Amino acid sequence: SPARRGGASPSKVGIMGGTFDPIHHGHLVAASEVAHLYGLDEVVFVPTGQPWQKDLAKVTPSEDRYLMTVIATAENPQFRVDRIEIDREGPTYTLDTLRELRASYGPDVDLYFITGADALGAILSWHNVDELFHLAHFVGCNRPGHHLSDSGLPEGKVSLVEVPALSISSSECRERVRKGEPIWYLVPEGIVRYINKTGLYLET
Ligand code: ATP
Ligand code: MG
Repeated sequence: SPARRGGASPSKVGIMGGTFDPIHHGHLVAASEVAHLYGLDEVVFVPTGQPWQKDLAKVTPSEDRYLMTVIATAENPQFRVDRIEIDREGPTYTLDTLRELRASYGPDVDLYFITGADALGAILSWHNVDELFHLAHFVGCNRPGHHLSDSGLPEGKVSLVEVPALSISSSECRERVRKGEPIWYLVPEGIVRYINKTGLYLET
């Protein structure tokens, strides 16, 4: 729920979905830049529950991914984290999440779904694309190694924006931890410490 202490209720809200396994500076820069470009009042980070697009066995427990997302966003007053997908039973569908967020924010709030170029490429393969585009505006961010193309995207429904390019991925961070390589400065300090404390990613 969008309940919050203090401040007016938001009128423009970004939604940043992800596995966040772990959350890294590429996610945070994209959210921050889109918030700036669109004058968003807040960005809601939505860690996935049981990801249906990824190899289930290799995904870190939801609670660890949720906590890391909270740690990484805690000091930014514009950022918050929603447990909506973590607490939902069964597979994660972006459509369900957008419906629920739309219902809790009400009809007058503009929702902006923020994705990297790779995730945007998958949009057209999602079910009920028309309803997705009805529920939210989609913002595609450039991402190193992925090509942003607007071909085939419904006109006026998807915006492509340039964010500072950070060549960072969660998979690479996990691999670096496994190999004993540093992830300092790829992820926030609190995430380095959380990973060291819990022993996450030491085995694949
Ligand atoms: P993995 O390597 O496990 O797939 P990831 O780094 O792609 O992890 P996700 O949690 O899958 O991270 O991504 C969540 C969202 O953030 C997606 O929309 C993705 O495209 C976007 N994103 C991830 N990394 C970047 C980046 N470096 N720059 C811009 N967008 C990014
Ligand atoms: Mg990814």
